[in-house]
Amino acid sequence: MVQENAKRTRPNILVTGTPGTGKTTMSSALAEATQLRHINVGELVKEKNLHDGWDDELDCYVINEDLVCDELEDAMEEGGNIVDYHGCDFFPERWFDCVVVLQTDNTVLYDRLSKRGYADSKLSNNIECEIFQVLLEEAKESFPEDKVIALKSDTIEDISRNVSSLTDWVRNWHSSS
Ligand code: ADP
Ligand code: MN
Repeated sequence: MVQENAKRTRPNILVTGTPGTGKTTMSSALAEATQLRHINVGELVKEKNLHDGWDDELDCYVINEDLVCDELEDAMEEGGNIVDYHGCDFFPERWFDCVVVLQTDNTVLYDRLSKRGYADSKLSNNIECEIFQVLLEEAKESFPEDKVIALKSDTIEDISRNVSSLTDWVRNWHSSS
């Protein structure tokens, strides 16, 4: 039986952006400030084997999108989640009340990803992804534009400001549907 969307009492937030833009750092600070649940999709995929093996060329797991969505469904229906992932086009639109796209200056991002030890090809792929605003475009194509916000994530001050404005947003959120 298909049930009508039960109202969430707390919002679901998607935090997306190119690897290295600060999704995990910002999401965990926001989770602490709001008591929402931080779901790091990359970690979940590894932990629960929600993938179809390793892609040697891209140097990452081939995520199984159906398995990930099945795994998340109950929590998302309940509400109160911060979902942290560098992709967004396979999540159901109805899951999210707000979609945050973090963006970082190229040279800053380059330093962060080099420090992470990314190989040259992976590094340039990700820098290109940021230059062409791939995640912002993906978010705008996958979700209503009024739910999508781009936030700058170059400095620690940016993180604090983003966390405090999102915390205010969460406190003032009421289910409208
Ligand atoms: P992501 O989850 O998007 O891949 P992380 O949160 O793991 O990114 O951040 C990558 C690295 O960059 C970490 O070392 C983190 O401390 C640093 N970092 C992230 N965002 C910022 C920021 N706004 N200012 C300064 N350093 C940051
Ligand atoms: Mn991360």
